[in-house]
Amino acid sequence: MSDNLYELLASRFPADPAAPCFLLRDGGHVSYGALADGAGRAAALMVARGVKPGDRVVLKAEKSCQAVMAYLATLMAGAVFVPLNTAYTAAEVDYFLQDAEPALVLTDPASFLAEAADVPPLTEPVPRAAADLASIIYTSGTTGRSKGAMLSHGNLAANALALHQAWGFSERDVLLHALPIFHVHGLFVALHCAFLSGAPMIWLEKFDDAAVVEALPRATVMMGVPTFYTRLLANPAFTRERAEHMRLFISGSAPLLEATFAEFEARTGHRILERYGMSEAVIITSNPLDGDRIPGSVGFPLPGVELRVAGGETGVIEIRGPSVFSGYWRMPEKTAEEFTADGYFITGDVGRQDADGRVWISGRAKDLVISGGFNVYPKEVEMVLDELPGVVESAVIGAPHPDFGEGVVAVVIGQGEEAVLIAAAREKLAAFKAPKRVFFVDELPRNAMGKVQKNLLRERYADAFA
Ligand code: ATP
Ligand code: MG
Repeated sequence: MSDNLYELLASRFPADPAAPCFLLRDGGHVSYGALADGAGRAAALMVARGVKPGDRVVLKAEKSCQAVMAYLATLMAGAVFVPLNTAYTAAEVDYFLQDAEPALVLTDPASFLAEAADVPPLTEPVPRAAADLASIIYTSGTTGRSKGAMLSHGNLAANALALHQAWGFSERDVLLHALPIFHVHGLFVALHCAFLSGAPMIWLEKFDDAAVVEALPRATVMMGVPTFYTRLLANPAFTRERAEHMRLFISGSAPLLEATFAEFEARTGHRILERYGMSEAVIITSNPLDGDRIPGSVGFPLPGVELRVAGGETGVIEIRGPSVFSGYWRMPEKTAEEFTADGYFITGDVGRQDADGRVWISGRAKDLVISGGFNVYPKEVEMVLDELPGVVESAVIGAPHPDFGEGVVAVVIGQGEEAVLIAAAREKLAAFKAPKRVFFVDELPRNAMGKVQKNLLRERYADAFA
C-alpha cells in the first residue's frame, strides 16, 4: 500500500459493494461500489487525457455525487484536487485558473463520468508518498485575497483518522451532508468521516432547513456552519422529536454564538459540539464527544496537534502537527512569513488556552481594534452586546477615528436606539471598549461558509466618525 489517501479511504469502504453511500432526495441511492467504480473509470480517463501525478485538476461545479467521484478520481490519478467556490465570478475564476495552472478543468462532472463509463477503471491508484500534494484549497478570502493551501496525502489522512476517532464514527452512522464541497469542511471533514466508517450520507445539494428537518429522523450525525443551526431554530417544525435519533451535531467554520448553543440545547436536548479548523490544517481543536462541551470554547487540540499562544495569555495561536499544510501555493514569501523558525504555523486567530487545555478564540488578529492605543477584542464586545435586549447578533469593527486612531463600531442585527445601546454597553465595558457608534441592520454580510465579512463592514462604515 502506498500513502495515496484513496487507498486508505477505499480500504474502509463496506465489503458489500451494494451498500449505500449517497442517499438521494428522490429516494434513490448511489452505492459504495458505484462510487469506487465511477472514481476508477474517471481516474483512467484523466490519465488517458494526459493528467500526470502532481498536475492540478480544477473542479468548479455544483455539488453532486459525480463531483465526489471526480475528487476521488483525482486522488487515484495522483493529481492535485483544486475545488473552486461555485459562486465565483468569471473574473475570479480567471485568477484561480492562472494561479493553479490546471491540466484539466471540470465544470460538468456528470458528463465527464458519462464519458468515462466505457473506460476500463484504473486498477491501482498511482502510488503517492505522504508528503505528496493531494489538494490545494483556496482559503475563504475573509481577510483578503484567497491563498491556495497545499495539503498532502499525509495531512489529510492524519486528520481524517483523528476525527473519525474523536467523534466516534462507526458503520452505524448516517451523516447528514448539507455543506458545500469546495471547502475543507464539507469536502474533507464530512466526506472522510463517512468514508472511513463505510457509512451512508443523506446527500443534500444545499442546506435547506425544511429538507434537514425532514431528513433528521434517518440521520445520526450532522455537520454544519453556525447559520445552519440558527436557521433550523427559526423553523418551528424543528422539534425535540425530530432530533431524537441524532447522536451528534457538530459546528464549525465560524464562531457559534452562545445564544445559539443554549437555544439549541433547550429545544432539542443536544449540546452542539463546536470545533475549530481552517484550510491550512483542516481541524485543529474539538470539544469532546464524551465530556463537557462548553459554549464559547472550541475545545482541546486534537491528538498530535501542538498548539501554543504567542506572547502572553491571549495572543495569536500557533500550531504544528501532522495535518498542518506545507505552505501556500506559489507564495514562498507569504509562506515564510506565516511560519515560525521552529516550524509552527501562525494561524492569525487570536485566542487563549485555559488551565484545562481548552482553547478559546477571540477573533482574528486582523480584526483587532486599536482604540486610543488600547487593544479591543471584538468578540468580547460582541458577547456583551449580544446579551442586551433587542440585539440578535452583533459584529464589532474599528473605523478610522480622528482622536483615537480607531473607534469601536457595532453593527447590530436587531432593533433599538443607538444611544440606549451605547449606554447599556458602557455599564459592562471600559469606555475604550464600548462602541461609539451603533448601526442597526437586517442582515450581516456573510460569505458561503457563513462567515461575517468584516472587511466589507469596515469599508461600509469607514466614515462612521468622519
Ligand atoms: P482567509 O484566510 O482567506 O482570510 P478564512 O480564514 O475565512 O479566509 P478558511 O480557511 O475557510 O478561510 O477559514 C478558517 C478560519 O475560520 C479560521 O482561521 C477561523 O478564523 C475561522 N473559524 C473556523 N472555525 C471556527 C470556530 N469554531 N470559531 C471561530 N472561528 C472559526
Ligand atoms: Mg484564513
